Amino acid sequence: MKKPMTKPVTAFRMLASVAALCLLRLYSQVPQPDGAGVEAGVLPARWIHGGPKCMEEPEWQVHEYNADLYILRESGCTHYEKPFLYVIFGNEKVTLIDTGAGQHNIGRVYDEVVAKWLRRKNRESIRKMVIHTHGHSDHISGDAQFRDRADIEFVPFDIPAIQKAFGLAQWPESVGRLDLGGRVLEVVPIPGHHSTDVAFYDARTGLLLIGDTLYPGRLYVTYWDQFTKSIERLVQFTQGKVITHILGCHIEQTNTPYLEYPIGSMYQPQEHALELSRGHLLELHQALQGLGDKPTRLAFRDFTIWPLGSEVLNEMRRTRKETEERLRSRMWQQTP
Ligand SMILES: [Zn+2]
Ligand SMILES: [Zn+2]
Repeated sequence: MKKPMTKPVTAFRMLASVAALCLLRLYSQVPQPDGAGVEAGVLPARWIHGGPKCMEEPEWQVHEYNADLYILRESGCTHYEKPFLYVIFGNEKVTLIDTGAGQHNIGRVYDEVVAKWLRRKNRESIRKMVIHTHGHSDHISGDAQFRDRADIEFVPFDIPAIQKAFGLAQWPESVGRLDLGGRVLEVVPIPGHHSTDVAFYDARTGLLLIGDTLYPGRLYVTYWDQFTKSIERLVQFTQGKVITHILGCHIEQTNTPYLEYPIGSMYQPQEHALELSRGHLLELHQALQGLGDKPTRLAFRDFTIWPLGSEVLNEMRRTRKETEERLRSRMWQQTP
């Protein structure tokens, strides 16, 4: 027969369980060992950066973030914009985001990445898509390699096509989705840099792919009012979500705070990391709130707000020509 509990013991046990609860609360505030439940991935210490010897550098770097997500970087030897492209696999579909700058062979590279993934997964096939972060020429130059292929679902970068592909009822207020099978990307319209910008949020990895809207470099703003509203919506969209990295499509910043490479730089041996955080988004948001409706160039540690106008564009054209010609003349052996 069980002995009845005495009163002091009950009180002690109650105290102990309250203490345990307090401890549990305390520990629930610290990071969990599973990394908040997101699928982990790695970013390289350095990307290919246009030399020092163009003969040695591949046209594309294929980086495995994890087994189902790849980042491609175009060589600066191919085009000074050196954009980053993304390949994301679901169970039923894979998508390529953007098609690069200048003359290159992205069609073959995408096919190779998919073929290797199929071998790795012991599968016969997967449906292929091509989509874009926006319609600037350094993100669409490989479109012709995909547009007419029967095995590719190609989404053009005009707004009606984007709305249809991602189920966006209202542009730019709605949030759309792209279902790749067991993996849904949320699609957030963020016009301002261009008229067709969208961001993709992948809840599985916590990555926010943001195009040319926020990256370590010059944030070219074409439509100031739209840009400000888009950043506001993006802050609201990301509120309470796990954002592991914000990944853009370029690096123009050096690894020295406030110092950027001039436009046209094909060789960037000391470049900034690609990844930014939600803190950078909040920094940008706060700055835009402060500037109001007045387009202003403003430099921060890791990026610069850079409104575009005809005078600015002319200045940029001159700098680009001078920088590109200087670096291209010694592309086979850059000097420090
Ligand atoms: Zn752009
Ligand atoms: Zn770009």
